[in-house]
Amino acid sequence: MAAPLWIFADQLGPHVHSTPEHVDREVVMVESAGALRRRPAHRQKVHLLLSGMRHLAAELGDRATYIKAETYREAIESLGRPVIVHEPTSRAAEALVRRMQDDGLVEKILPIPTFALSRADFADWAGNKKKFIMENFYRDQRRRFDILMEGELPTAGAWNLDVENREKPPKGQRTLDVPAPWWPTEDEIDDTVRTDLDAMDIEWLGEDGPRLFAVTADEAQQALTTFVADRLDTFGPYEDAVMADDWTMSHSLLSVPLNMGLLHPLDAVHAAEQAYRDGNAPLASVEGFVRQIIGWREYVWHLYWHLGEDYANRNEMGAHTPLPSWFADLDADAVTAACLSDALRGVRDRGWVHHIPRLMILGNHALQQGYDPRELTDWYTANFVDGFTWVMPVNVVGMSQHADGGVIASKPYSSGGAYIDKMTNHCKGCAFDPKKRLGDDACPFTAGYWAFTHRHRERLGGNPRTSRAVSSMNRLKDLDAVLEQERHRESF
Ligand code: FAD
Repeated sequence: MAAPLWIFADQLGPHVHSTPEHVDREVVMVESAGALRRRPAHRQKVHLLLSGMRHLAAELGDRATYIKAETYREAIESLGRPVIVHEPTSRAAEALVRRMQDDGLVEKILPIPTFALSRADFADWAGNKKKFIMENFYRDQRRRFDILMEGELPTAGAWNLDVENREKPPKGQRTLDVPAPWWPTEDEIDDTVRTDLDAMDIEWLGEDGPRLFAVTADEAQQALTTFVADRLDTFGPYEDAVMADDWTMSHSLLSVPLNMGLLHPLDAVHAAEQAYRDGNAPLASVEGFVRQIIGWREYVWHLYWHLGEDYANRNEMGAHTPLPSWFADLDADAVTAACLSDALRGVRDRGWVHHIPRLMILGNHALQQGYDPRELTDWYTANFVDGFTWVMPVNVVGMSQHADGGVIASKPYSSGGAYIDKMTNHCKGCAFDPKKRLGDDACPFTAGYWAFTHRHRERLGGNPRTSRAVSSMNRLKDLDAVLEQERHRESF
């Protein structure tokens, strides 16, 4: 009899368990009480993972063996037969399955089928590189998978249409006014998950709320289809804008089903490309979406492995401030700055805010305040519904905190209130003034930008991309007063 296939909660799609190789195999899923207790996580994230596994078990019927146990090892031991497994998505899980292989509990470890590019092909691409440029990786992905290509050339001669994708929030509108995303309807499986989470003696992070993301392959397909038909055309232009009364804007909300392995990344980009070829979405939007999925997402995944375990501990900016309790505990009501309060509220109430609040509000704040990048990484992993171990080092340590000293991004993403005022509509109603760096209503991002620039003046002065910030800082007549004010800042 064929060995059962053991799958994790981020390997739930048919491209994992129902390929010709596995279609007749028993599928084993494990709900480990120990794993749930070990690290605190947002309640809605745990809901999504359990709901996804339980929905799949129901779908597979007799093919599924669903085991609730203290540990993964105990669960597999209780089967009494060795299993096969696909490569897991974290070093810890990989080490576990290797140990279990040594002990005869795992018969074979197969390559992971939930990303477009294999780990071996990435290793060939990376070779001995020390610096990585996403644009080069992305172009090779386009060529390799023949996405938006006309023979050897990119469609319409353009690899990168980012310049067309930088619109500010539309004036005079409270929302982007685009069709709604696909929303799930909860069922009895969700009810049971909710009851079980209530009964567990665990203090979950964040608030409970209705399920907002797809947890089955069928739901993921519906979410993709709705996005491509109704929202992809406005995805590109407003990708970088933030609106206080519109938390989804034109984003796809596909990170959860993609990261749970419910949707294959190439299926998502093929659907987007088809919309362009059918004349239903402009190239800039489609290219922007393709770039996120086969560019950024795959890049982040492969660099998690390639950059090694120590990468996650890098702290080149010497940032050692512990996360303040209001930030760690998502206490949005303790925060005055409208943008920061709104972003924290989004994390508390949904475990999700889009890319710009993650990078330019939460990450920017953390960078300016010198929060410890390791602690911050754990905070993002625990609190975001799409937060998995592999996604964090490049996004948090590299992109957001520049803690790798420039391996991923050529400059730190610190910006003052002027940027936030331009790209969001938060500043109008805010008690702080983005133009002010001194005084009771000085914007913490504006003043924080100068304090950050001063703290890192040597590094920033030596980088052609940031040296002008240091020259501008040197011309500020009130710099000493700003620095003194920021040393004692208590209100954000
Ligand atoms: P869209 O804006 O619609 O983008 C489409 C898809 O592109 C996403 O679903 C996602 O799968 C992919 N994508 C785009 N950028 C990235 C990226 N930088 N890394 C990985 N995938 C990307 N993404 C996560 O999946 N999990 C996280 O925990 C996570 N944490 C982040 C933390 C920080 C500090 C930053 C700067 C980014 C983080 N991202 C994370 C990337 C990105 O912000 C989210 O993927 C995106 O906001 C999810 O919403 P969406 O599905 O509507 O994405």
